[in-house]
Amino acid sequence: MAMGLRPLHARYPYFESARDAVSKTDVSLAAAARDEAVAGRALSRVESALAENTVGEPERRTRTELLSYPIARVLVSLVDQPVLIHRYARAEADAACERFVADLDRRELKSAPDSKLALDDLLREFDLDGAVRKGNEGNTATATRSGGSDPSTGGDSSDGGYEMAVSSYLRLAADRRGEEWRLVNRRLENGWVALSREDLLALCGEAVRERVAGGLPLSVPEEIGAALDDAAETVRERLAETNLIRDVDTVVPELFPPCMQYLLDQVQEGEHLEHHSRFAITAFLSNIGMETDDIVDLYMVNPGFGEEITRYQTDHIRGEISPTEYSTPACATMQSYGDCVNMDDRCERISHPMAYYEQALDDADEEELTDWRARESEAEANAED
Ligand code: SF4
Repeated sequence: MAMGLRPLHARYPYFESARDAVSKTDVSLAAAARDEAVAGRALSRVESALAENTVGEPERRTRTELLSYPIARVLVSLVDQPVLIHRYARAEADAACERFVADLDRRELKSAPDSKLALDDLLREFDLDGAVRKGNEGNTATATRSGGSDPSTGGDSSDGGYEMAVSSYLRLAADRRGEEWRLVNRRLENGWVALSREDLLALCGEAVRERVAGGLPLSVPEEIGAALDDAAETVRERLAETNLIRDVDTVVPELFPPCMQYLLDQVQEGEHLEHHSRFAITAFLSNIGMETDDIVDLYMVNPGFGEEITRYQTDHIRGEISPTEYSTPACATMQSYGDCVNMDDRCERISHPMAYYEQALDDADEEELTDWRARESEAEANAED
């Protein structure tokens, strides 16, 4: 094992201590990208995230496992698809959550000393130490018993579980699915939200997701990009093969977030849209995989949208005539521009219109999606006749 690298670093490569350990090695990112074992494991992290929402089997060698994480982030950046960033960060977060449970229990068993993890350290890692405290005697995690998570399944219910400051809770629970994560279904007292231990660890997983996705896509130096060319191509192929992209490409307006359904209706009804609204809907359609021609066709029903300017703006947003592919604005931005309208229940569990759409697709029956695809193909065939 390289000096200073510990198995805990390999299990939690996004921890500050792991980053420090990497920076103290003499391995540059470029050298790591050229290392076959590291690049292979990085590829498996990303492929597993796409295929099964895991990060795959860990490498036995601490150095390889640890370095595969920054290289996986580079790979995700090279492919540069919002849906891939989302999937990869989610897989790292879910894996982290499982490891938290296993490693914290391990500590209680006093075994595997190299994988020791303490809850206090974990909270400090994500600046949550001041935002989490032990719960009160007799506290319950949820305000309602129906649909809420039972603190008795999360351990520590005998001493009231935990409480989290409401601002941290709202931030970390924003992307969690399930009614039990809605604030209205939680016990909230004086700005503190009651949590079971299980829920607390799930929210620590969300902190991992934020950290993994933070800063992605990275700007990748040419030398590093060249070393990972083949691996990036493999990820692109996997992405194209997965239902993920096909689903997104299905373009099911019925499942669009309410804000985007509204903006699209406005376009098709010939209404004038402010620049920020037009940007939002165009970026959304582009981010879910629509081609420029299709977006232009969609807008052509609106005489206010000249073809030339629409094509220019769409290509600009897609990054084809500009250095950046622009992302759909997050809900907070949409709200600040007055573009967040007709919010529904799902809106309360997400913080980004892309996350809304992806969840809606995930929740839809495969049968429903097949019907939508069939209808779409039929419409295309009719249009060609
Ligand atoms: S909460 Fe987000 S997804 Fe829902 S309508 Fe508002 S901007 Fe759209």
